[in-house]
Amino acid sequence: LKASRRGAAALYSAEHELRLRSGHAVEAALQTADLAAEMEVHLQPIVQAAADAPTVISVEALARWTSPTLGRVRPDVFIPVAERTGMIHRLTTTLFGKSLAALETLPDTIRLSFNLSAHDLTNPKTVLGLLSAIRRSSVAPSRIIFELTETAVMRDFAIAEASIRLLRAPGVSFALDDFGTGHSSLNYLHRLPIDAIKIDRSFVTGVADEAGRTLLAAILALSRSMKLACVAEGVEDASQLAALRDLGFDTFQGYHFAMPMPPAQFLASLPASADK
Ligand code: C2E
Ligand code: CA
Ligand code: CA
Ligand code: CA
Repeated sequence: LKASRRGAAALYSAEHELRLRSGHAVEAALQTADLAAEMEVHLQPIVQAAADAPTVISVEALARWTSPTLGRVRPDVFIPVAERTGMIHRLTTTLFGKSLAALETLPDTIRLSFNLSAHDLTNPKTVLGLLSAIRRSSVAPSRIIFELTETAVMRDFAIAEASIRLLRAPGVSFALDDFGTGHSSLNYLHRLPIDAIKIDRSFVTGVADEAGRTLLAAILALSRSMKLACVAEGVEDASQLAALRDLGFDTFQGYHFAMPMPPAQFLASLPASADK
């Protein structure tokens, strides 16, 4: 027993060491990264599918990093590192620039959702930078949606709220992301000037059972009574889609419809009539 405990401890510390090192490696690679060259955004469609022919109403921009030393690194790995090391301002600025460039190539009927990090809303430099990028861009501000989580707002509610109001002034919308996960809670729903909620995939998975459906129906009713749009995230198969539709959902995002993809590929996937 002692030996196996020692073995487990050694294994744990080796794993821990590896984690630390890879965190450090991510940090080092990010610090020297040529963000403009190494970062891309992929686009994942958000569809309105009340009837049988789904229409793409917007796309979510998702960060993709290919590091020359580490290869592909996932955003849920490098975004927290960028936040921790003070690089998030530069990263957000780069990614938003690329997202706007992609949006310019899309038909006017399609909007773009951009993820703001927890630190973005409380950094005046970032907020003003986003505003001026929107002003410089040729796209209508009403085509831009910022997604934020509760963490973003919790850091400093008053500042976050002021930033949201500032960004909304030209006509940009806001969505509360990962709704229901504890990163986004009911507490903020009535206090924030937002337009939509995105229901986290963990709830969408729950559509398979009765208790999960009850919860989803309640969230949908809540969003309707507050006049908020409601997107079901992470829809992976036809049976989930059918069950969500039965509950009254009509806006979806997930692998069942499309994976995140490079902007050119997304553009090529659109029906010819939707071309610009
Ligand atoms: P998120 O904002 O909740 O984005 C949705 C994530 O779910 C994406 O992961 C997407 O690829 C994935 N997804 C979409 N449909 C499905 C599905 O049907 N099944 C499953 N299992 N997953 C699905 P991704 O691209 O790895 O991004 C992870 C997280 O990283 C995002 O979660 C977001 O919090 C953050 N992130 C991504 N891009 C950015 C960015 O440009 N800025 C900031 N601040 N955060 C970003
Ligand atoms: Ca999101
Ligand atoms: Ca989400
Ligand atoms: Ca998330």
